[in-house]
Amino acid sequence: MEATRRRAQPSANGKSPEQVDQAAQWGRAWEVDWFSLLSVIGLLCFAPFIVFYFVMACDQYQCSISQPLVELYRGETTLLSIWTRAPSFTWTAAKIYAIWVGFQVFLYMCVPDITHKFIPGYVGGVQDGARTPAGLINKYEINGLQCWLITHALWFLNAKYFHWFSPTIVFDNWIPLMWCTNILGYAVSTFAFIKAYLFPTNAEDCKFTGNVFYNYMMGIEFNPRIGEWFDFKLFFNGRPGIVAWTLINLSYMAKQEELYGHVTNSMILVNVLQGIYVLDFFWNEAWYLKTIDICHDHFGWYLGWGDCVWLPYLYTLQGLYLVYQPVQLSDTQALAVLALGLVGYYIFRSTNHQKDLFRRTEGSCSIWGQKPSYIECSYRSSDGGLHRSKLLTSGFWGVARHLNYTGDLMGSLAYCAACGFGHLLPYFYIVYMTILLVHRCVRDEHRCSSKYGKDWSRYTDAVPYRLIPGVF
Ligand code: NDP
Repeated sequence: MEATRRRAQPSANGKSPEQVDQAAQWGRAWEVDWFSLLSVIGLLCFAPFIVFYFVMACDQYQCSISQPLVELYRGETTLLSIWTRAPSFTWTAAKIYAIWVGFQVFLYMCVPDITHKFIPGYVGGVQDGARTPAGLINKYEINGLQCWLITHALWFLNAKYFHWFSPTIVFDNWIPLMWCTNILGYAVSTFAFIKAYLFPTNAEDCKFTGNVFYNYMMGIEFNPRIGEWFDFKLFFNGRPGIVAWTLINLSYMAKQEELYGHVTNSMILVNVLQGIYVLDFFWNEAWYLKTIDICHDHFGWYLGWGDCVWLPYLYTLQGLYLVYQPVQLSDTQALAVLALGLVGYYIFRSTNHQKDLFRRTEGSCSIWGQKPSYIECSYRSSDGGLHRSKLLTSGFWGVARHLNYTGDLMGSLAYCAACGFGHLLPYFYIVYMTILLVHRCVRDEHRCSSKYGKDWSRYTDAVPYRLIPGVF
């Protein structure tokens, strides 16, 4: 494998590349081992087919994920016949998608946030991101909540008064739309990849591993932008992905009503619990600037294609399932699912809030009614600068090192459980989230360990468990 490479340019403060390389090795990997490389190639090849498989299982096999495999095994069907039965690309879907993405770009770029001026407690408008590995602090226009509100207000006005399009439009074009989302996902990832070589936004925040597949998948540029404000990470994760999430669910709900004349309590639960999660994301969009996606991940296929295709198709699988398999839960079951979802959300939100409050106030706050305890630590950015930070060891952060992930997993399980136990398909989400968050936890800890060195070991000694105290 080609040696690890980095652009040999003098840094902003005039340090040589060698000095800079010694200064900071935190951030995503510089060198790719064979396992990571094989995983990356596997994902690049198979992830689009996983999405296709789940959607086809619903469309052609009433959401059974084993039936297509059984039929293929018995020779009763072929991959080609599944492929040819799948609705293909349509220009109607392309128009819908182009209008959708164009509208979200317009809202993101041209409608500065005003909601923070009249919604008490909401942090919007221009906000600072976290320090990048090169020591930069980017500015972001936080207007996601406003975009979400405008988009959903228009959706409801259309459904009630305007009738420009049917509320089932998303479901009715779901498979043709999949081709459009893939085109955008691949286009944006490829553009970001080429841009990193030709005109990076900030060359010092680029990482080249020397392996083209890894670079393409995990990204080279840290915060690619077009112009001063069009930030790829913030836009693609939040707008075509997460704003769409609740609209897709609403479209599924409308389809259930159209097909069966009523909406099941399971569909309402999925809409409500996922709606809370989405609204929480936009309410806390400024906080999102401090999460791993923005602070550590580079922008490649993993985020670009993932936000355009994986997120809207697989995060909404429960609603899709309930269109094909309408499940009416008993009151007790529904209450149990609601309780699990709300408790999970509470742990998720409170844990994230505690860290945010602690970091914002630099420890001058109260956690669970007491002065927080913490570990002082230091790290270097790639310009050689020494920075100080603090790791919280009280509140939820004293119980386990990633209780926010635990809460997220409880919420995810609630979405799946809302679909009953008739099929495995809706449970894909909890399996995926468990893999995602456990992997994320390990990769984050690896990064924190290289960033903070022995200070991180002091932290893991003080808080020994990751997700479940006493277990893991
Ligand atoms: P965290 O919010 O847990 O951020 C981890 C970072 O926080 C670390 O890299 C470190 O960064 C800092 N940190 C770690 N421990 C401490 C501590 N004790 N005190 C203070 N700071 C600490 O992780 P994510 O960004 O991954 O996740 C944010 C939320 O988003 C989570 O709730 C997660 O569940 C959710 N999420 C949801 C996904 C989904 O697809 N639904 C996907 C990914 C995340 P630093 O360098 O600043 O020290």
